[in-house]
Amino acid sequence: MNIVLFGPPGAGKGTQGVRLAEEKSIAAIAMGDMLRQAVAEQTPLGVQTKQFMDAGKLVPDAVVIGMIEETIVEEDASNGFLLDGFPRNVAQAESLDEMLSRHGFALDAVVFLDASEELLLERLSGRLICKACGFGFHRHYSPPREAGCCDRCGGELYQRDDDNEDVIAQRLHVYQEQTAPMLDYYAHRSSFCRVDADGGMDEVYERLINALEQMH
Ligand code: AMP
Repeated sequence: MNIVLFGPPGAGKGTQGVRLAEEKSIAAIAMGDMLRQAVAEQTPLGVQTKQFMDAGKLVPDAVVIGMIEETIVEEDASNGFLLDGFPRNVAQAESLDEMLSRHGFALDAVVFLDASEELLLERLSGRLICKACGFGFHRHYSPPREAGCCDRCGGELYQRDDDNEDVIAQRLHVYQEQTAPMLDYYAHRSSFCRVDADGGMDEVYERLINALEQMH
């Protein structure tokens, strides 16, 4: 099964995507994670993209499209994949369709995780992420049992550089301007579904599974 998961920052794409990919035994491919890794490793690509990420802007299409193609071809995608955070604008969505048909893949589901701006702001500003396993917590709504320490693996929790007030505002603006228009691109497809992301982690996951079941 090949899935695209998209939606505004803070909708829960990472959390829900990892869980769904595990359940379906498919590869979870998170564009933001790949870019953050390149920045941390200070690869030439990481050095080039850091300024865009720090500013809450999209990294140039040519960079992310190239990375996705390499990953889809190199990863064992025979069981399927879940794309989190790619595509993020209509040009990327068109490139993805072209690339998939060239490699003989198709999209089985395009899931739009939808949430109000108020909720997104609240979620992003309190978000804590495990350095080791990537699992997400929230300072107030789902705090870790031990401060600064991941419940799942014991890893160290951190706040993302771009989860600060100014950059969050910019990321939400970029979402409205560039990513939201993808709704028109995908909404007419039979593989498209919208899932309300306003709720607890388990509640949203159940909605997601139900939406996928109804589709197939
Ligand atoms: P995320 O972890 O998905 O919130 O992404 C973090 C940052 O990585 C974004 O604010 C962008 O700067 C960059 N990024 C992630 N995915 C893409 C993409 N598909 N196209 C361009 N930039 C991206």
